[in-house]
Amino acid sequence: MSKENELQQAKVRNKKYPITDVAIQKVPFIKYKGLNEEQNKNMQSLAKLVLKIAQEENDSNEVAITWDMGTDSIEKYGVVYGTEHAVDICSDTYSNHLLHSVDNVIIVLLHNHPSTRTFSFDDVFVLMEYRPIQYMVVVSNQGTIHYLKKEKNYDENAAGMLYNECRAKCKGTKDVEKIYASTLEFLKRCSEVGLYCQ
Ligand SMILES: [Zn+2]
Repeated sequence: MSKENELQQAKVRNKKYPITDVAIQKVPFIKYKGLNEEQNKNMQSLAKLVLKIAQEENDSNEVAITWDMGTDSIEKYGVVYGTEHAVDICSDTYSNHLLHSVDNVIIVLLHNHPSTRTFSFDDVFVLMEYRPIQYMVVVSNQGTIHYLKKEKNYDENAAGMLYNECRAKCKGTKDVEKIYASTLEFLKRCSEVGLYCQ
């Protein structure tokens, strides 16, 4: 690809898409690894909800929902409103409580990405930082879904090392494309540390 083309592509990937009703309707039913039919349905409802809240209340910018899967009901969840590129999940009391729980809970963290990009280094960091998060789901504003799951053989230390290794490759650069490429490398290799990426 020519330099000009590359730049064009990069701009397209990084562009903010306003959320449409069609995108919300089209959020797919996903068979998440390790979840049953009912749980998958709840996950689909929550992915739609993230987009709906972002569309109606946050100018299509990032919104994060934190949900305790053990509650079996999607009535109760934590919600945080972010900017176009970031969301601080701990700024909501209930979310903060769930993320720091020491019991054996399965926490799901869902957030939307205004661009078509998949996980960022910050997303991966959050997943590693908070033990209770088992599933991290990113819904693009166009309704596509990516998720990361901690497997039984998930290795915290190995994950940290892989993260550092990939981050080191783009150390000091502000070039978003280089940073994104390093993130993709982490995702490509994440099964080495017991993460499942879809
Ligand atoms: Zn993100």
